[in-house]
Amino acid sequence: MDVSGYGAALQSGQEGENARQLAHQVIDFLITNALHPSPVNYTVAYEYRLARVPALNARIDDRLAGGKHLDDLLMRELYDEHLAREQFRSLRGLGGSLQELVEGLIGDITAAGENASGFRSAVEHNIDRLASDRGDATLSGVAADLLAAAIKAHSGNEALRKNLEVADQEARKLRGELDRHRREALIDPLTGLLNRRGLDHRLEEIHGLGEGDSLAMVVLDIDHFKRVNDTYGHAVGDVVIRHVAQVMRTAVRAQDVTVRFGGEEFVIVMPQMSLEEAETVAESIRARVERLRLTRRQDQLKLDPFTISLGVATRRAGEDFEGLFARADQALYAAKNSGRNRVLTERVLS
Ligand code: GH3
Ligand code: MG
Ligand code: MG
Repeated sequence: MDVSGYGAALQSGQEGENARQLAHQVIDFLITNALHPSPVNYTVAYEYRLARVPALNARIDDRLAGGKHLDDLLMRELYDEHLAREQFRSLRGLGGSLQELVEGLIGDITAAGENASGFRSAVEHNIDRLASDRGDATLSGVAADLLAAAIKAHSGNEALRKNLEVADQEARKLRGELDRHRREALIDPLTGLLNRRGLDHRLEEIHGLGEGDSLAMVVLDIDHFKRVNDTYGHAVGDVVIRHVAQVMRTAVRAQDVTVRFGGEEFVIVMPQMSLEEAETVAESIRARVERLRLTRRQDQLKLDPFTISLGVATRRAGEDFEGLFARADQALYAAKNSGRNRVLTERVLS
């Protein structure tokens, strides 16, 4: 994800060598802190090096001074809190350039209008001349005048047509960029699932469902994930997260909403589904994850199998997302407490 404007600052403010040095420093920072070089991590580390956002630097410095390590979750939080807004500011910048373009076009159209009315008055003037004098010299003068006026009017229209073409291309490009920024703001880059903001968007549509429609939710968390990170490193942890996301994706229907809710915690929202049906889906995800056998690519090391715990609940009449989530999360908590690697539904809560 390129947060527009940063690249430009690099090119205009610093020469190539400085830019290379900065990139090296950012990569060093990521490696030193065992961070995956994801676009979000890179962007946050880049800003940290430039120290343009004091609050962001303070959070990272505090964390490091306290002897704690940085992780993707924190980097994501810092990105959302301090840099996502910057991204939207740059979107407003895009809006500005569109406006300039439109203003330029209005100027062109006005000029073309003036050319056209100049052409009309030239024609009218020459018709008057023809009416009063029909000599040859007058005729050739009339022809030359009309030609000059026609060329002028035509060149105005040609410039307008060219500018309209450029404007059309520019508008398409801006629309594409806007779509890309919107998509990126709603999607988790590691897994491609929706992030929390993406879920909020989708919930607005889902809320349109009638009260009578059933709606199930599964909350899912990887068991002893800290151990995975501690044993194999953060990069392998990320791969594990990706695999869980992939299992989720293949286990749900097209209308279901799969979300990376936090670090290694996921949510699935399934419209028109009963508690029993949702429990079956959750159980199939649990069983598939348990059967995964992953191998670390660099040395073919076989990773220990890992498991997940899941909580399931369905929406009650008039309930909002928070209420439903709280019950599914309590069921997940119960699943963790009763030994992990299992699915429990809200039935255990009563
Ligand atoms: P439990 O079975 O109780 O869930 O144990 P757990 O070890 O999974 O406990 P907890 O939820 O407290 O730990 C989650 C860990 O996940 C802590 C954090 O460092 C790590 N983590 C969070 N986000 C990411 C990420 O994006 N990538 C990696 N590799 N680790 C992450
Ligand atoms: Mg966990
Ligand atoms: Mg967790």
